[in-house]
Amino acid sequence: MNLNIDFQEKFELRHIAPDHQETAAMLKTIGVSSLQQLVEQTIPEKIRLQKPLNLPKPESEYDYLKRLKQVSLKNKVFKSHIGKGYYDTITPPVILRNIFENPGWYTQYTPYQAEISQGRLQALLNFQTMVIDLTGMEIANASLLDEGTAAAEAMFMQFSLRKNQQARTFFVSEELFPQTIDILKTRSAPYGIHLEIGNHQTAVLTEDMFGAIVQYPAGDGAVYDYKEFAEKAHAKGIKLTVVADILSLAILTPPGEWGADVVVGNTQRFGIPMGFGGPHAAFFATKEEYKRSIPGRIIGVTIDAAGNYALRMALQTREQHIRRDKATSNICTAQALLAIMAGMYAAYHGQEGLIKIAQRVHGLAVLLSDSLKSLGYKQENEAFFDTLKFELGDLAKPLNGLAINEEINLYYKGSSVSIAIDETTNLEDIKTIIRVFARLKAKTLNDLNIDELKASIKTSIPTELIRTTDFLTHPVFNTHHSEHEMLRYIKSLEAKDLSLCHSMIPLGSCTMKLNATTEMIPVTWNHYSKIHPFAPSDQVGGYMQVIDELNKWLSEITGFSTMSFQPNSGAQGEYAGLMVIRAFHMDRNEGHRNIALIPASAHGTNPASAAMAGMKIVVVKCDENGNIDVEDLRNKAQEHKHDLSCLMVTYPSTHGVFEESIIEICQIIHENGGQVYMDGANMNAQVGLTSPASIGADVCHLNLHKTFCIPHGGGGPGMGPIGVAKHLAPYLPGHPLVDIENGKSIHAVSSAPWGSASILLISHAYIAMMGSEGLTNATRYAILNANYIKSRLETHYPVLYTGSNGRCAHEMILDCRSFKSSGIEVTDIAKRLMDYGFHAPTVSFPVAGTLMVEPTESEPKHELDRFCDALIAIRKEIAAIESGASDRNNNPLKNAPHTAAVVTGSEWNKPYGREQAAFPLTYVAENKFWPSVGRVNDTYGDRTFICSCPPIEDYQEA
Ligand SMILES: *Cc1c(COP(=O)(O)O)cnc(C)c1O
Repeated sequence: MNLNIDFQEKFELRHIAPDHQETAAMLKTIGVSSLQQLVEQTIPEKIRLQKPLNLPKPESEYDYLKRLKQVSLKNKVFKSHIGKGYYDTITPPVILRNIFENPGWYTQYTPYQAEISQGRLQALLNFQTMVIDLTGMEIANASLLDEGTAAAEAMFMQFSLRKNQQARTFFVSEELFPQTIDILKTRSAPYGIHLEIGNHQTAVLTEDMFGAIVQYPAGDGAVYDYKEFAEKAHAKGIKLTVVADILSLAILTPPGEWGADVVVGNTQRFGIPMGFGGPHAAFFATKEEYKRSIPGRIIGVTIDAAGNYALRMALQTREQHIRRDKATSNICTAQALLAIMAGMYAAYHGQEGLIKIAQRVHGLAVLLSDSLKSLGYKQENEAFFDTLKFELGDLAKPLNGLAINEEINLYYKGSSVSIAIDETTNLEDIKTIIRVFARLKAKTLNDLNIDELKASIKTSIPTELIRTTDFLTHPVFNTHHSEHEMLRYIKSLEAKDLSLCHSMIPLGSCTMKLNATTEMIPVTWNHYSKIHPFAPSDQVGGYMQVIDELNKWLSEITGFSTMSFQPNSGAQGEYAGLMVIRAFHMDRNEGHRNIALIPASAHGTNPASAAMAGMKIVVVKCDENGNIDVEDLRNKAQEHKHDLSCLMVTYPSTHGVFEESIIEICQIIHENGGQVYMDGANMNAQVGLTSPASIGADVCHLNLHKTFCIPHGGGGPGMGPIGVAKHLAPYLPGHPLVDIENGKSIHAVSSAPWGSASILLISHAYIAMMGSEGLTNATRYAILNANYIKSRLETHYPVLYTGSNGRCAHEMILDCRSFKSSGIEVTDIAKRLMDYGFHAPTVSFPVAGTLMVEPTESEPKHELDRFCDALIAIRKEIAAIESGASDRNNNPLKNAPHTAAVVTGSEWNKPYGREQAAFPLTYVAENKFWPSVGRVNDTYGDRTFICSCPPIEDYQEA
């Protein structure tokens, strides 16, 4: 026996599912002799890369984790008292293991298919209820990307709703966190909104102001009574937004009780690790009257076909998928997973638990304040919740040295220092801080009597600002306080949701590929999860190494010069990229360039982003093959050549085709003075074979939660970093608190300098373990799997749009419009697929009445076959309706999905059998996934809009 000691496990073989045999069989079905031939027939030669990607040799899973552990140790886990919007917190282990680290929760898709998403919809409704209760407002959405952008959304909502069209000024309290002010600067400029940054106590409010924003507690920790300010503002017709700390609201009078029109903030400190900046869920709460203008996803209560309680995403007509450039916001991927966790944290602790945590945090802050006062320091915040402020003059510098010696991070600004207390802080930590301050005055802990001080701590908050109203009274927040109850509650919700744990989720454009366990593991390691985004740069060497490597690799993959990791979603990447283009034009004295050409087939976020960047949209036609109409593009580019800003183009196209004319298209734009923005959502068809730079683009975003393995989390988190050509690099976003200046940086687009930095680890792992050949193979197999499905299905469903050789790229569109004459809508097929155990493909995008299927490289042939068998069986069911053998209105499609309650009910009066309803193919019976509700009623829910947990009696009545 010869022994091979050079053998190394290849991760590539775990990530890419089809083996040699399956590959051969699929190639045969497609009718090509090799993968190479298929790729040649799919990707036009002139854009194909000529040499392999220059990436390090792939690492095995074992070696990668070993290395990343070493890298993590370059991050220093100091005790963080920095605050400024990020606080250490205790993730209840039952939530950590069973949600955050559980693919049953993190691999879910955005809940468009409500009937198989009731678990996360309920969890998000809990989140909304929690936000409504704590803020004292009437309605809330299901999360936004971060606190800073939530504040910007509030500004925009108030701007859009202003009564006085002349009013263009927004008052901004100078005591907001610096990153929030910076984002307001970014977001206000394109709309021509003037920011008046000042002191709320001395500000002169004028008719020219449409809105104002203050922070509660303020940025340095002071708790102000804003009641008078709110009254003054309202008297002038000015709407008030309050940025609030969610934990403080357990003991402070909620803004809804003293005049806020909108309350925004972050729920990070409800059990979500800091993770060097994210991901975390921001919130947005407001009044019922603004329900049609509220930004972001919102979960609402409705009924299903049987009249039972059911949930789904409400009021979707506000969103960019429908309203495009007129949308109320541009949220596609939000922060669902983190919102779910924060809601569970509230359910786990309940009102009483949250009050205790808040009181303890506040009490420790009071104790620290009293102690340092008795050492002769003056604490600046008269009333405060968790953050103290000291003016130290010359002592600030030596204090920093002493604190660092004790591994404590405080927040320094000039000669002032602030100290934030959090849920993890204990008495020993307080003593350590006191010791450091004592030493500064050559004293010791023994110079004060802590026990005495401790016995007499009293709140610094004035009575008017002490919360008197109850919150979280709903049973959901009062029954899961023991670990068993919580565990079972989490599991009961998880069981209602179809995730990648059950079957493929073939979502076109969304690339639901494997989220490998090894990729996920480092995210929750302390040395990554417990790092504050504004920690001193010499404590974050591990993160810097990961981010630098990822920057290099993604630059190589896109062909660009460098990346910005600030944007927290694809949509936000689009916005960042367009703002960079805007800055580039302005810098060349061509600031008037504001026309964005956008093909008719573009994703809704494209026009919405362009509108947010202050651009005017000119729609470019597509021809009958789904390709951009090059003549129309040329004409429009020339017509607007004096004010052309850019083209936004998805490649391969949203129709799943590599357009041959792409190079010419980019040339036309450049000849007319524009820049090319490539929407990178379809990068899974490019990696290693072609690239954004090689087609001629100047900037693109990557959806790391699509192409690069970050899981979808049931609607977020995501990351949408942008890559740029060299001439755009100087304009990449900066940050007010961390030096990432690029020369001519635009203001920040996110609260944290590197966005949701902790999940960059996932993409880093993927690339490191795949290497150049692995990544390129992933692309090849994505194309193979798609073309295999196409070959199996095209005799049953017409496939719209293919390349010149009849190939699709990594996805394809199945045309279902002809079934309309038999009364069958594409939605009926989507719902019927649930009975077969599948999540529907993308419905009606980019073409109404179609399904867009994207299998990804991670699905084996066996799974593709199951999916094809299901669609073919459904086609037969449609044929029965077409022929009249099956009733037009009472058939398995129209009645889908069939719940266990319906199928096992004592009454069954349908013209087909129970078996056909629930077990239409043999494989279904082996592993049946039961939708937990019947078809949800969308119109009912929008008519009787409810976005919080209804009183328990309501469920029982229904
Ligand atoms: C997913 C997608 C987007 C938006 O990305 P998010 O990360 O969800 O914001 C934009 N364009 C296309 C084509 C997409 O598929």
